[in-house]
Formats: sequence, structure tokens, C-alpha cells
Amino acid sequence: MSSFSIHGIGVSSGIAIGHAHLVSNALLEVVHYQLPEQLVGNEIARFSDAVLIVKKDLETIRGTLSKNAPAELGAFINTHLMILSDKSLSEVPKDIIRKERCNAEWAIKQQMDDIVEQFDAIEDEYLRERKHDVVQVVERVIKVLLGHPSQAPNQTNKIQQQESVTILVAHDISPADAIQFKQHHFAAFITDVGGITSHTAILARSLNIPSIVALQRARDLINDGELIIVDGSLGVVIVNPSKDILAEYELRQNQWMLEQQKLKRIKSAKAVTMDGTTIDLYANIEVPEDVDAVKASGATGIGLYRTEFLFMNKREMPDEEEQFQAYKKVAEAMHGLPVTIRTLDLGADKQMNPDSVSECANPALGLRAVRLCLSEPQIFHTQLRAMLRASHYGNIKILIPMLSTLAELRQTKLLLERAKLSLRKQSIAFEENIALGGMIEVPAAAINAEAFAKELDFLSIGTNDLIQYTLAIDRTDDAVAHLYNPLHPSVLKLISITIKAGAKLGKSVAVCGEMAGDAKLTRLLIGMGLRQLSMHPSNILSVKQQVLHSQITKLNSDARKVLGLSDLEKIEPLVAKFNLL
Ligand code: PEP
Ligand code: MG
Repeated sequence: MSSFSIHGIGVSSGIAIGHAHLVSNALLEVVHYQLPEQLVGNEIARFSDAVLIVKKDLETIRGTLSKNAPAELGAFINTHLMILSDKSLSEVPKDIIRKERCNAEWAIKQQMDDIVEQFDAIEDEYLRERKHDVVQVVERVIKVLLGHPSQAPNQTNKIQQQESVTILVAHDISPADAIQFKQHHFAAFITDVGGITSHTAILARSLNIPSIVALQRARDLINDGELIIVDGSLGVVIVNPSKDILAEYELRQNQWMLEQQKLKRIKSAKAVTMDGTTIDLYANIEVPEDVDAVKASGATGIGLYRTEFLFMNKREMPDEEEQFQAYKKVAEAMHGLPVTIRTLDLGADKQMNPDSVSECANPALGLRAVRLCLSEPQIFHTQLRAMLRASHYGNIKILIPMLSTLAELRQTKLLLERAKLSLRKQSIAFEENIALGGMIEVPAAAINAEAFAKELDFLSIGTNDLIQYTLAIDRTDDAVAHLYNPLHPSVLKLISITIKAGAKLGKSVAVCGEMAGDAKLTRLLIGMGLRQLSMHPSNILSVKQQVLHSQITKLNSDARKVLGLSDLEKIEPLVAKFNLL
């Protein structure tokens, strides 16, 4: 087996060595477990039910096709129905379940792999490509099965054992898929597409496992089960490494782990500069379970809780009680430290389901975040009530994403008052003076930051979107990833305007985008006047190390020099020099 390497964009550092596990999106969750003899009958029934549901779904889709729908669409559904009724998919998996005493998902996936292999051997290209139809039909069945879990015991242990040495190789992974990895234990993941600050990449960083996106053809070039090395820092994947390379990387992996270990020594040190200025280092979280990592990191608060992940991979929206319990859990676990909960930021690359596709041409410019909430006031009301109720149990602040006009802010405030009123009427306790902050992540809001600061208690700069919207670069599109640069002078100017607006009105300003967790930018951000940075827990210690070795007076003058420049080519080397001091 020859060795080769593939280059992409490293989005989460570290080194992983393991075996490739190729997945297509909906097959991500398929795991293998054995059933006790007495459950085999149930499992076969579960499989038959799932096939029946998919059949009915397909027939319903066919029935609802309008007369004007293209003929291929009907033919396409018919093909899928035919594939599904073929014995090889509707009967053979039952034999597999019976013989191997395995779960239904695994059985149909095995059978699918077999069929796909046979298709691969077909010379006729058209026929060969029909394998995609088989995969799509199987995906449908698996999705239904996953929505109706079997009664088999101890699944999680098996999942973990299987995944501990596994590197996930996918064409693409949606944020909704990636959030599920939090419960699993993959050693790394790599994808063909994706941008550096896409939400999938952000989740990869929060999982603290190496990952690389934009590898273009990793899924075609790598075979299932092949040994691969993922170097997340360099963005390189080495397939079938030679003995020497493997030994070299094992050494590097150990070094990396030692460095991480060393950093832990400053975990309980206060984040104070050499001349005595305290910098608040807060954490970003996606789900309540992340609080453990926050505590282990030594963060002194939560600067961004992205609540939309609570809404993903669900058939229905979480109700007020479910949301309240999640927010309360975080508030209580943080024991009075600040917990900044952001209202729903669905839309753009964050859809509720991995396969729901936004119908608008430019979803990042569409009905996203606060715009979506204001157009669905009932959803907003439910979430605001849940947040307010949780505020009784800790130090909660509310953060509004993607504000671009004062009208949006004022409407939000009215809805917040309405939520408060409804709670008062029911005599439900909440914090009357709960702080309300706004994200500055649209250039319009940054330019007008003073007006927002006047009407808010605090500001938080979302640099991921601020860069995307200022530079007109889709953060999920790897084709323009090389243009995505936090040091672009226009981006720095917008950040500076926001910091000054906060200072003028005595309102705190934080950064909670990925810039805050990049230790190479810490000195610049502090020099520009920021005193609060919120990032993934895994970045806290490396950023703290920078803080501990900094002198504010020096950083201020350095930052002034950077802000005086309007040429990116001059800014980059100057900022790089800061870190040598
Ligand atoms: C940002 O845009 O910088 C931000 C923190 O929000 P998100 O990444 O969730 O869009
Ligand atoms: Mg954002």
C-alpha cells in the first residue's frame, strides 16, 4: 500500500493516529452491537416497521408531487420504491440480524456495502452510479431506525470502544451532525469541504480533537480501515504512513500531549497582565454538558452559550420546560459566575436537521438569528421565558445575536418585557434586572455601535460573522477561505469602533468569536482595549499564558501602530512580532 498525503485546512490542532471510518452523512451514527437472543425477534420487527414507514413516506411524496413536477422526479421516487421492495434490502437484512444477532442499522448497512461493491464493478457508468440511489434509500431506513432506538443494553460502551481509535472521514459534516460527536469518541475528523470558522469547525475545536476541512477528495482517496495520521496543526493527512513517519508522528503526538499537560499548571492562576490588569477569560459552550470542560479549563464565566444546539436533531422544538432545565443546569453549575446565554441563532449553516436545506439563495443573509426569532414571536417568547426563569438560579445574562437595526433591539426589548410580565402574573421568580447584551457581528451594528451601547447593558463582538459580512466571504466556503482574515484593516477598525463605543458609554465589550481563542491575537486584542475574551475551553490556557506575559502599556502602543496601518501585508508581520516579545 503506497503512502501519500493530502492537504487541507487545519481547524483544530493536535495529532491523531487511527483507522479511517468512511461515512456518508446519515450513516454517521451507525454502530454495531449484539443483541441477546430474546431480542432478535423485536429487532426484526423494528426493521420491518422502518421499511414500511419509508415506503409510506415515499408513496406520500409521490402522491403530493404536482402535475407540473418534472417527470424525472416521479421516476426517481419509483426507483427508490423499487429498490426498497427488492429482497436484497427488505429481506436479506433480516437474515443478517437473525444470523449475527446484530442491530438492524448495522445489518442493512452491511448489506448496502455489499451491494455498493457489486455496483462498483459494473462497467456501464450510468448503472454504476445507481449505487447512490441504494445509499439514499438505506439512509432513509437508517434515519427512521435511529428515531426508534432498540432496547439493546449498553450501546454507549460499544460505541466508545469502537470509536476510540477511529478517524471519521466524511464529505461534509453539518453542525447538527457534529454536535452528536460530543457523546462519541472519535480520535479526529476530516472532511472534503468546509471553512475555517464554519460552525462545524467551531464544534471540532470544542471537541478538542484534531480536525481538517477542505481536503477536497479525502473520501475518494482514503479507503475504509486504512491507517491515517491527522496533523490538525499543519492541515495534513498522511495515508498509510511508512514505519519511520509513523514513529516520528508518535513522538510528536507525545510532545503535543506533554505541552498540553504543562499548560495545566497555570489553570488556577488569575489572568492578570504583568502590570496588574485583569482580563476575563470566559468560555463558549454549545450544550450544558460542556460545563465540565469549562470548569476544567479555569474559565471564570461563560461568555457565549449557543442555545441553537438544543434545537438540533429533534423532530420538535424543545418546549419551555426543557429549555429552562438546560439553562438552569448551566447557571447552577457555574455557582454565581456569569453565564451569557444567547437567544436562538438558527439559520445560515445551522439548520435544525442535518438534511434540512435552506431554500433561500443566501441563507447567511436571510432569516437568521434575531430576525428569525422576531418573525416567530412565540418561539422567542418561550425561550425568553425559559431564560428568565433560569435567571433565578444563577448569574444569567441574555445576549441577542445578529442585530443590525435599533428597531430589532427595541422589538426584542418589548418581547422581553412581555415575557417578564407573563412570569410576574404567574408569580414565577426571575431576575428583574437581568442584563441584556447585543452581539456586534454585522458591520452595520459595529459602525453604529454607540447607539447600540446606549440601549444595551453590554456588547459582545462576534468576529466570525463580522469578518464574513465585512469581507463578503462565506465562512463555510473553502474556496474563499484564503481571503478570510481577522487582521484585515477594515475588520480591525470595526472592532476598534465597537470597543471605543463601549468605553465611552461605560458598557463592557467582549469578543466571543474565534479570534478570542487565537493566542496569536491575544496581545493585539488586549492592546486594542478588550478586557473580556470568550472562547472554547480548550483555548483558555494558551490565551492565559499570553496574558500573564504581557504589559498593557506596551500592548497599547503596539495596537495603535497596527490600527494606523491600512495594508494587510504590513499588519501581519507586525502582529507576528508582538508574540516574539
Ligand atoms: C460569531 O459570529 O463570531 C459568533 C460568536 O457567533 P457564531 O459563531 O455562533 O455565529
Ligand atoms: Mg455569529
